[in-house]
Amino acid sequence: MERIYNFGAGPAALPEEVLEQARDEMLNWQGCGMSVMEMSHRGKDFMGIAAQVEADLRGLLGIPANYKVLFLQGGASSQFAMVPMNLLRGKKTVDIVNTGVWSQKAIDEAERYCTVNVAASSEDARFSYAPTQDKWRLSQDAAYVHYTPNETIGGVEFHWIPETGSVPLVADMSSNILSGPLDVSRFGLIYAGAQKNIGPAGLCIVIVREDLIGQTLPGTPTMFDYKIHADHDSMYNTPPTFSLYIAGLVFKWLKRLGGLAEMDKRNNAKAALLYGYLDSSGFYHCPVAKDSRSRMNVPFTLKDAALDEEFLKQSQSRGLAQLKGHRLLGGMRASIYNPMPLEGVQALVDFMREFEQKHG
Ligand code: PMP
Repeated sequence: MERIYNFGAGPAALPEEVLEQARDEMLNWQGCGMSVMEMSHRGKDFMGIAAQVEADLRGLLGIPANYKVLFLQGGASSQFAMVPMNLLRGKKTVDIVNTGVWSQKAIDEAERYCTVNVAASSEDARFSYAPTQDKWRLSQDAAYVHYTPNETIGGVEFHWIPETGSVPLVADMSSNILSGPLDVSRFGLIYAGAQKNIGPAGLCIVIVREDLIGQTLPGTPTMFDYKIHADHDSMYNTPPTFSLYIAGLVFKWLKRLGGLAEMDKRNNAKAALLYGYLDSSGFYHCPVAKDSRSRMNVPFTLKDAALDEEFLKQSQSRGLAQLKGHRLLGGMRASIYNPMPLEGVQALVDFMREFEQKHG
């Protein structure tokens, strides 16, 4: 059976080795006579799996001991509410940087709980760049500063970490976590939905400095309280067991390949290949400022939008799938997360070149 190259933004491609291992272990995990899906989350086997998943993630990211790792549900979207509910800690204002669709959602949800100061925005250029920190206007007494290091739809990535002094920095890393080494100690809280660079949908990972939790807004539901999840090792209720198990296989895969430094190299090579071609072509155009281009999500347009449908049809028939851009932007988007091999990006560039020659 031929597998395609999947350029979908999420749920996204998983490493083939991970899928093969999951297949092999599906009916009988390590001789226990059942699949991971069927295990009690409180049984010895699953508790062992969960502990290993956390240990491997801590190892990959070098997460300091004073940070809790939480395995939650409700997607990154729930974090747009959970972050203010937990991190306001008596304060009334938060700073949020607006670089596109996902930051805007974080803003809209936070406004239900507090005053939001939009500390910087790239709306003036259709969210095509990451505002440099000299353009940020932080407030006096913000509970935290929130930004979106990688805007999945606009394809805008911060290639630097903002400096916020003693004010905790919060990052929605849904679409670029694990794409390279990260200094976790620079952040108060990091969250990420799993379905791009971690594993299957249904799991959301939160990494939070432990002194920031335990002071929720009055009325916060139990399930929205980070401290409850931290105190119960993410087993307050039933966690998304199968997604956690697959995430664990992905972490092992990352470790086998050489960890995040190796991912960094691979992601640089893939991005250089694709952007290099886009910039050399007069037929395709990437709307994102060069210093803010995402290594994970690459949006581009064709010279003539009337050719979009033909491009998608032909690419699909070549085994290059899910290249259609987000409905808000139109055009195309190639998501090239960790599991996408360089060969997949090369196949895309080869196809694009041929298409340009035929239609340019
Ligand atoms: N933030 C970012 C940056 C995203 O890309 C997404 C999903 N595409 C979300 C938040 C929302 O994630 P979820 O669907 O897991 O709620």
